[in-house]
Amino acid sequence: MKLSKDLEVLPGSPNTLVYQGRVVVDLGGKNASLNLEAEVQLATHGHMDHIAGLLRESKVRYLPREDMWALSLLGRRVMTYGFSSKDSPLFTYDLLKEEISLSGDPEVEIVKLPGHTPGHSGYIVGNVLYAGDAFFGNRVLEGFVFPFYADFWTAVESMQKIKEIAKGLDNVVIAHGPVYEKKKMMEILEYNLNYADKLVSWVREAIRDGATAEEVVVKIMEKTVKDIKPTNVILNSITAKSILSQVAKEVTVEDKGVVYRS
Ligand SMILES: [Zn+2]
Repeated sequence: MKLSKDLEVLPGSPNTLVYQGRVVVDLGGKNASLNLEAEVQLATHGHMDHIAGLLRESKVRYLPREDMWALSLLGRRVMTYGFSSKDSPLFTYDLLKEEISLSGDPEVEIVKLPGHTPGHSGYIVGNVLYAGDAFFGNRVLEGFVFPFYADFWTAVESMQKIKEIAKGLDNVVIAHGPVYEKKKMMEILEYNLNYADKLVSWVREAIRDGATAEEVVVKIMEKTVKDIKPTNVILNSITAKSILSQVAKEVTVEDKGVVYRS
């Protein structure tokens, strides 16, 4: 999909951005199999579905320094699931097993958008911000129930930052979700911000009588998800703990684990 003379989005999950046919942002997912020659390969962050481009021959291969944990499989696992072990059917997002090496400096404007991961960054090319996983399409958000934010509160700040800087830009592109014109993308951003507020109130309600982080996740997911998978509870517990760390008035240890109360 052409956005302008210089900019093209290759739809996928993630959507991949191509600038002047030589700068590629977030090659991964099904797009990883495309025969794309690029001088510059940029990843917004270290998650396995965003870094396939860093394995390509190119002059520049760039990943934000706070996400250097992504250079090894063990690092990627620890920062995704919160732990690692040899092999387990729980690691369903292990798309890439290789070690990664980086080279060169990117020539584009980097916008720090932490929260999803420590180093998560957006890139501005051709007056468009590629915002990666700073926010998500409505259906993606509702499907996972919890947006993956290692630091939920910092992620909300990053969304506010996008709202500000987008005023001077032609458009914002996200990795997982539709590609629309700017007005609609700003509505999606607003939806994400409102959803974040809603999630905080659901969490507060879930710990009225005390609950562990995993119990909070299951209680909230049960509202809309029929078949809840262990991997999704593990991933969602990360965001839940980040929310709980600010929301809980009382935290105790009981037989079932760490119990949070509002
Ligand atoms: Zn991600």
